[in-house]
Amino acid sequence: MSAHRPFAPSTNTMAREGVEVGPQHQIGERQGALPGPLTIISAGMHGNEPAGVLALQRILAHLQATDAPIRGRFVALAGNISALRCGLRYIDRDLNRQWDRGSLDRLQSEGLRGYAEDIEQQELLQDFETLTRHHLGTVNLLDLHTMSAKGVPFIVTCDSQDSRTLANQLLLPGIAGLEKAIPGTTLEHFLAQGYRAVAVEGGQHRDPRAVDLLEAVSWRMLVVTGILDQSQVPDLAAKEQLLLAEAAGSPQHVVVRYRHGVAPEDGFEMLPGFRNLQAVRAGQVLARDRSGEVVAPQDGFILLPLYQKSGNDGFFIGS
Ligand SMILES: [Zn+2]
Repeated sequence: MSAHRPFAPSTNTMAREGVEVGPQHQIGERQGALPGPLTIISAGMHGNEPAGVLALQRILAHLQATDAPIRGRFVALAGNISALRCGLRYIDRDLNRQWDRGSLDRLQSEGLRGYAEDIEQQELLQDFETLTRHHLGTVNLLDLHTMSAKGVPFIVTCDSQDSRTLANQLLLPGIAGLEKAIPGTTLEHFLAQGYRAVAVEGGQHRDPRAVDLLEAVSWRMLVVTGILDQSQVPDLAAKEQLLLAEAAGSPQHVVVRYRHGVAPEDGFEMLPGFRNLQAVRAGQVLARDRSGEVVAPQDGFILLPLYQKSGNDGFFIGS
């Protein structure tokens, strides 16, 4: 499968910004002697978000070094391998926007269309199928991301009680409704598959602190889904404190009410200084584009303000 991948590691001139990943999506796994849950943690669906991959590598190294007893199976996956190696958000298309039913049907009926992300997606679909084929119980999935803005990290949940409960257990604010505002995310697909799935936006791209945050959330995920006893996690209390400190003073649960979509020709530019989950007022100027000022349509909290060149979501407002 990897023979089709168009970019070789480290020979590419952009590879200095990338992260070391192998030819397979599986970063590693731990299988317990006792039966139990299946928990999959994925990272790097966006190639400019290496923090999650680094966090998972740390966790796997620790579990291997201590030979920690686990229950069930924990699998760590890397998403967009080609893009991770280059440090780019994507090569041809955003891998985290093509998991809606229509796109998946097209992939199946038309096959690969020469886009690097079609290959990545097809490989991931096969990997998920293989991993879950013989698993009878719930499949837990945590998808690790980072954001272009500074500000409070959060869990991306959906409307289900199950998903909300999981978000609360991961100690960060839960944001519901993003999966409806952003069609085609992995979360949308795997929720539809019946997984107990959430995503996390764990800090700013390239901030070493984001690796610590995503590592802390991932350890919590392994504990709350029953893979690990908490005594097996190094300094769990400190990790939980890190997450609680990030969430302090923020609303615990926010629902997305508005998305400001952008196209390249809009010339969209956020005003500097907005932080994720910062409170904004209706009418407040948030950005500029070729038509002039872009204002908040309502009171609420700004989510994922866009401070990178690639991306179609200018910002979201939740309340
Ligand atoms: Zn992302």
